[in-house]
Amino acid sequence: MNSTAEPSFRQSVDLMFNRAVARMDLPPGLEEKIRVCNATYTVRFGVRLRGGIHTFTGYRSVHSEHMEPVKGGIRYAPTVHQDEVEALAALMTYKCALVEAPFGGSKGGLRIDPRQYDEHELELITRRFTYELAKRDLIHPSQNVPAPDMGTGEREMAWMADQYARMNTRDINARACVTGKPLAAGGIHGRVEATGRGVQYALREFFRHDEDKQKAGLSGTLDGKRIIVQGLGNVGYHAALFLSTEDGARITAVIEHDGALVNPKGLDVEKVREHLIETGGITGCDQGEYVENGNAVLEEECDILIPAAMEGVINMHNAPNIKAPLIIEAANGPLTAGADEILRKRGCVIIPDLYANAGGVTVSYFEWVKNLSHIRFGRMQRRQEEARNALLIEELQRLAREGGLKTGLSDNFVRQYLNGAGELELVRSGLDDTMREAYRAMREVWHGRDDVHDLRVAAYIVSIERVASSYRDKGL
Ligand code: GLU
Repeated sequence: MNSTAEPSFRQSVDLMFNRAVARMDLPPGLEEKIRVCNATYTVRFGVRLRGGIHTFTGYRSVHSEHMEPVKGGIRYAPTVHQDEVEALAALMTYKCALVEAPFGGSKGGLRIDPRQYDEHELELITRRFTYELAKRDLIHPSQNVPAPDMGTGEREMAWMADQYARMNTRDINARACVTGKPLAAGGIHGRVEATGRGVQYALREFFRHDEDKQKAGLSGTLDGKRIIVQGLGNVGYHAALFLSTEDGARITAVIEHDGALVNPKGLDVEKVREHLIETGGITGCDQGEYVENGNAVLEEECDILIPAAMEGVINMHNAPNIKAPLIIEAANGPLTAGADEILRKRGCVIIPDLYANAGGVTVSYFEWVKNLSHIRFGRMQRRQEEARNALLIEELQRLAREGGLKTGLSDNFVRQYLNGAGELELVRSGLDDTMREAYRAMREVWHGRDDVHDLRVAAYIVSIERVASSYRDKGL
């Protein structure tokens, strides 16, 4: 999709980094130290399949080790290459710093089309890939902790965790070697929805600030806002679902690999997703009008555009036609540096990837902490909290009765108040707090400095400053 004039993904991330450091006062050499990718490992390995040996190529790139372990997903796609994993690893460094997840940045990828293999074959390939990475400490609870990304999910993470545990039978923290695992294999409630949930929390926070909405020419709340979502994978689906069912937004179009589905009244996200899972596409889905040229729908009128699939989908070719006044980057790198410049100049407000999709790694951080502490969140305090709440309710009800009040506490209030927070509630609360705090930090730079005019530069400044101070603390 990128034209030849367009920089590569990694160059795009570097250009965005450079725009930020030009406004900072870093000591000589430190800027370069932070920007460069520390190491990229390429592994090639053979797996015996279908009567022959198949050779696969995988990568794990480590961008910055200012904090360890380093963190970031592993993607399975036929398009995976070194430039891409390096760009994604760099984004992980800045993302973790922005949301105060105590990790350096890393990313991995396996060049494979997972749809071409059955489950058993994928398990063999994943276990062998894990072996290659783990024996080089590129999967390790205190060195390098992968997670899901495009083309991978809970299933692959469970295989990886199990493979690591088999290779490290005496490691009591083996489960913390990877995040995004299924619950039964040491995962955490709310990890699957986390990135989409984070997008929702980010938008809610944006809509709390009148000044910020005005910059995008928007007003009011998310209620009734027209949203176009590109990519109904794990991230796009959860973001669209929560925004439509909990905030009253209208998903007016969903764009997928085989076209787009348009419905000005708002699509039923759950039904579209069901169709997608059943048939592999959105063609033939009766929830909206089908448009074959999905990419053209990116250019339709809407209030919010959520690119939630691949990098580079909004580039110098289509950026001039994009009408959305607000774009939130649920994917990593969906806007090229060129597109970013065109849209910024036009006054479009862009909530950048390193903030917008940081919900995933934030909840990964909670999962890693859970694995290291060997106890589920809320297990010690939940019932105690409920008992204290019950005491208070009983006392209030007694006072109301004895005081002769005609009305008491409503049943709904009592039910909600009595409920102690379980793991899912705590995870959501931690995620909400993280997204608000990170937004506050970005916003302070965005509004507080005359030379900063957009959220991306603000986000990079906050992140780079944190990475720089951690290098300074180490005496570098
Ligand atoms: N792959 C996700 C990302 O790009 C999650 C990374 C993680 O949880 O470590 O942020």
